[in-house]
Amino acid sequence: MVISESMKDLVANSSAIRKLFEEGIAMAKVIGRENVYDFSLGNPSVPAPARVADTIRRILDEQDSLYVHGYMQNAGYDDVRTCVADYLNRAFNAGMTAANVMMAAGAAGALNCIMRVLVNPGDEIIAFAPYFGEYRNYAANFGGRIAAVPVNPDGSFQLNLEAFPEYVNEKTKAVILNSPNNPTGVIYSGETLDRFNELLIEAEKKAGHPIYVICDEPYRALAYDNETVPYMPDHVKNTILCESFSKTLSLPGERIGYIAVPSDVDAFDEIMGALICANRALGYINAPSLFQLVVAECLDEKTDIAAYDRNRQLLYDALTKDGFTCVRPQGAFYLFVKSPTEDDTDFVNEGKKLGILMVGMKSWGCPGYVRLAYCCDYHMIERSLPAFEKLADVYGLRK
Ligand code: PLP
Repeated sequence: MVISESMKDLVANSSAIRKLFEEGIAMAKVIGRENVYDFSLGNPSVPAPARVADTIRRILDEQDSLYVHGYMQNAGYDDVRTCVADYLNRAFNAGMTAANVMMAAGAAGALNCIMRVLVNPGDEIIAFAPYFGEYRNYAANFGGRIAAVPVNPDGSFQLNLEAFPEYVNEKTKAVILNSPNNPTGVIYSGETLDRFNELLIEAEKKAGHPIYVICDEPYRALAYDNETVPYMPDHVKNTILCESFSKTLSLPGERIGYIAVPSDVDAFDEIMGALICANRALGYINAPSLFQLVVAECLDEKTDIAAYDRNRQLLYDALTKDGFTCVRPQGAFYLFVKSPTEDDTDFVNEGKKLGILMVGMKSWGCPGYVRLAYCCDYHMIERSLPAFEKLADVYGLRK
């Protein structure tokens, strides 16, 4: 084998979601595309707002191409960072300037940069189950590991604060919080975050050093029923914001987002300087140039959340009526469903027989559950409902 030991592990455990997505393509060739109900991938189904394309055209027509496509400071264009800071100040009274912002290659780029900055080999980052499975790969890139706090036993899928202190030790460098949450759709309330902050202060004493809170919120703009997503730095100390336009502006392939670090986080200057170095050293160099300029002009644009909301209600109502136990999503675009059998792999396989592609949550720290991504065509959900009825009948769920 020529590839490294750690890469061997990564390849062996390569993303189940991507595999499922590819299986769906193969299934479609056999049983027809209309008979495959693919709920696997979180790829937005709502197009980017029209202003995005207009802005791209205008920038290409009006601006110097050497500027638009050139190298720049590793942190990103200064004026773009100023626009982002101004936006955060307008929205949250954040007290930021360009010096608090680094443009990044999506949330994934932002997360890898901050982990590169914080993690020594053997260090731990705490995540609350269920958690985005890629976190393990990102931490492993730097010799770190995810220490997973088990699911809250109260069934709320809010943070399991009771168990959190047990997972803190001197190797704990950071905690990662993702709200609205992928996969549950839960939004962590301000109250929960305040209680978490009290525990964090204790945790820092136990660890003997600052613990940073990595706030991963690519779904911030996707909140339903007039729910608000608390601005985490208002509640939790040492919060570092990792933001993305992948879902909020439907631009996942463009790899654009940013990190914003409030000035009062511990060792602000050191962290900010190291982040900018990390962006270069990890080979991103800088976030994609054209899309930095585009998003700077589209910060107040919103995706069509009504379309996702329609999908959410259709799927949630139908599946609960069929007898499945589902978490009612407050945000993001995923439905979290309890597997009627203990082993979610069996349930996923049973679904496949009926053309339904769901993602088992074992590797996301939550065995016994599956995730359905409803960022898909509304009519596909409609077509899938008889298959879900049959699936419910396999387990005798329908009354
Ligand atoms: N974090 C979470 C929770 C996600 O669900 C995703 C993508 O699905 C990411 C990070 C990565 O997003 P991006 O495309 O901005 O890198």
